[in-house]
Amino acid sequence: TVRVRIAPSPTGNLHIGTARTAVFNWLYARHHNGTFILRVEDTDLERSRPEYTDNILTGLAWLGLQWDEGPAFQSQRTELYQQAIQTLLDNGQAYYCYCTPAELDAMRQAQKASGQAPRYDNRHRNLTLAEQAAFVAAGRQPVIRFKIADDQEIRWTDLVRGEVSWQGRDLGGDMVIARAAPAGEIGPPLYNLVVVVDDIDMGITQVIRGEDHIGNTPKQILLYEALQATVPQFAHTPLILNQSGQKLSKRDGVTSISDFQAMGYVAPALVNYMTLLGWSPVEGMAEIFTLEEAAKYFSFERVNRAGAKFDWDKLNWLNSQYLHSMPVPDLLQALMPIWQGAGYQFEIETDQAWLEPLTALLQASLTKLTDAIEQAAPFFATMITCDPEATAQLAQPDSRKALELILAYRQEPSELTPEIVNEVIKKVTKELGVKKGLVMRSLRSALMGSVHGPDLITSWLILSQRQLDIPRIRKAQ
Ligand code: GLU
Repeated sequence: TVRVRIAPSPTGNLHIGTARTAVFNWLYARHHNGTFILRVEDTDLERSRPEYTDNILTGLAWLGLQWDEGPAFQSQRTELYQQAIQTLLDNGQAYYCYCTPAELDAMRQAQKASGQAPRYDNRHRNLTLAEQAAFVAAGRQPVIRFKIADDQEIRWTDLVRGEVSWQGRDLGGDMVIARAAPAGEIGPPLYNLVVVVDDIDMGITQVIRGEDHIGNTPKQILLYEALQATVPQFAHTPLILNQSGQKLSKRDGVTSISDFQAMGYVAPALVNYMTLLGWSPVEGMAEIFTLEEAAKYFSFERVNRAGAKFDWDKLNWLNSQYLHSMPVPDLLQALMPIWQGAGYQFEIETDQAWLEPLTALLQASLTKLTDAIEQAAPFFATMITCDPEATAQLAQPDSRKALELILAYRQEPSELTPEIVNEVIKKVTKELGVKKGLVMRSLRSALMGSVHGPDLITSWLILSQRQLDIPRIRKAQ
């Protein structure tokens, strides 16, 4: 059975790249009726923060990427890693290295100077007991290194990239698996070791992760072999690229899922978009789909090898499609916190009667939820200011006359209906002998402070429910 995992490091908010990797893991798990596991890789105690863990868990849940097991925290599993390291030490596959940072630096400088790629030259691989004792006596704190033979080929069949092969000599020499600690102790374990120990312990069958980890995979395969465990399958998914074709990074601005959420993107649109970043739907499948639908057809055969350029237009288009097809009550639910955040005052129980029509009125013009802040402003504000076009419109004598007549025909306190509105506009147009357009533009300028905007009749009806229409017309007249 399939067991896959997402293994975020809580050193920042949930990044879109990690989220996209989570999408592929989730889809693969669901397609195969497998298990999707969440593991928090918080071994880097200095850079890990609980608020980032919160952000990551909340973000994954918001996206609908519910995990079946976890979260497991690496910071609570140290013993497991130490046992594995001890096994490697006992088997002679790992050893203490006493080199100081200054010595390593000098070594690398010398390699560079002679045109070699910098690598650890394995100088402490075969220290005698006496040499070791001398370093300990000198107070040196050793790291632990895992032996990597230069003369070997490491291969795997990647689910995305096909046959991949690495030479042992290209892996940078014997690899550090535990940080420095007093001699005889096992220091804090490092990424490649903990990932392998966890993936073995959790029975991971497919490691699905970003292509930026491809260089770790040969080292990890050697660790699986050294620990006598079955090597899982690997799928290295293409990176998300910015407009200039480089890996999307913090410098590109918006990169974390909570940023996208704050900008007004909705989760189903965002997961739909992330799925399309690298995966091509099967023939005949629409571009708009739910995670469940994508899971039905998901396979790595349709994951591209090339990096995927982030395309804001596409994301915006998808988001608008989702917003436009949302049931109005759901859209209102989504808009309420945004309107509240903008400082708009309303009571959901008592104001439902105009909030729902307002939501329906704006729905078709929304690309992001946050667009509704500006678009709804005239409906929440008691007072509006007119833009220059509306001001010019209202300065025309015909406009003033039209508004005067509108007021006369719009009898209070009778409730406004579409019929009454049409009737009023018709009568005023006829009486003044002007074009209907002028009456409409005048009314719109008075009610909304602009000559552009959503359907005028509906706007008026909503404003009348709030008793905002008559004061505005009066003021403009
Ligand atoms: N903690 C790693 C990361 O955030 C996970 C790598 C892996 O999936 O093995 O990139």
